[in-house]
Amino acid sequence: MKIQEADAKSLLAAQGLPVPPWAVARTAVDARAAAERFLAAGAGRVVIKAQVLVGGRGKAGGVRLAGSPAEAEEVAGRILGMQIKGIPVRKVLVGPAAVIVKEFYLGAILDRASRRIVLMASAEGGVEIEEVAKATPEAIHRVAAHPLLGLLDWQARELAFAVGLAGPHLRDFVRIARGIVATMRAYDADLVEVNPLAIIRESGPEGHVERLACLDAKVTLDDSALPRHPDLEKLRDLDEEDPADAEARHYDISFIHLDGSIGCMVNGAGLAMTTMDLVNRAGGAPANFLDIGGGAKADRVSAAMRLILADPKVRAILVNIFGGITRGDEVARGLIDARARQEREVPMVVRIVGTNAEEAARLLREAAFETAATLDEAAAKAVAAARQATGGAA
Ligand code: GDP
Ligand code: MN
Repeated sequence: MKIQEADAKSLLAAQGLPVPPWAVARTAVDARAAAERFLAAGAGRVVIKAQVLVGGRGKAGGVRLAGSPAEAEEVAGRILGMQIKGIPVRKVLVGPAAVIVKEFYLGAILDRASRRIVLMASAEGGVEIEEVAKATPEAIHRVAAHPLLGLLDWQARELAFAVGLAGPHLRDFVRIARGIVATMRAYDADLVEVNPLAIIRESGPEGHVERLACLDAKVTLDDSALPRHPDLEKLRDLDEEDPADAEARHYDISFIHLDGSIGCMVNGAGLAMTTMDLVNRAGGAPANFLDIGGGAKADRVSAAMRLILADPKVRAILVNIFGGITRGDEVARGLIDARARQEREVPMVVRIVGTNAEEAARLLREAAFETAATLDEAAAKAVAAARQATGGAA
């Protein structure tokens, strides 16, 4: 689950990381009021940032500075009228603008290969890390936290040296690096990214001071771990959620959109992946990964069908059910029901084996469904049907 920058900043702040203050506004007038407060508290300018769950807001014009309440209102109004990568901006973050001396990248991911939290740092801050990884992979430095001991200070110092940080910033960097790892662990995050982590200049009683601050924050939470964090569920941004994802979650269906034209409905994650492989081998491309889970009843089958058909790229549907706990006749009834209601006519090939397969076969025959005995046959038929529907390519 992705969460907005403002919420990610709350999580970082709760772990003791240096995050500048902020407010969230849904209207330009509210943004003006927030700006007024920060300016009155001593900020030279305010920063106004689109809150959308995509990166590259800066490049898209969704991060702007303003020097007065009136300008803040005008800028916020403009950002609130924008779409960034197709997503309408519904709220903005307002905060005191930092004076940036230098930007760095610092992020942690759960690395499946090493089965550890890996911390990455780069002196190429502010740029999307994917771009750095492509153009200059050697500019990204990594250390892995020990599963029991966590991130050790010397590891964090090594990262700091690698990105050219020294002197007074070293201690801050170590604290921030450890805080990011702590954030990963505290909330079962898949990703915690601070980009930019910046050296900022502030004027204090003794002149200018420079320190590190987290100017942006991105946190992705592990959906499977959310039951352990009921308080984090409320950070889900329903404004931005794909309705298909919400429906899939409601029915306990694992559903991931892909680019192909063959909609797949399968029970079991392993079988779903096998089915996708066989669709590929038959010359087609799956439109989705979909696991209806064990013991799916007719209503879940109907919901899965709606999800598949909501994708306009789908030209054929392949249903592959291996009945164990799931009863074949239940699935067949669900399919018959779903087809009766579907708004779009799409060829469907059904393979059901296992528990109550005979009853399923009888129901499907009576309803004139196209069936297949083996998975290879089902995949071949589905690919052929999709080809016919598109006049060539599947
Ligand atoms: P992103 O583009 O979605 O990653 O949004 P960021 O929050 O990272 O902002 C993009 C860029 O805007 C940063 O890399 C900074 O250069 C700039 N920026 C963000 N916050 C501030 C700020 O407080 N002061 C100044 N001067 N620039 C900022
Ligand atoms: Mn950023």
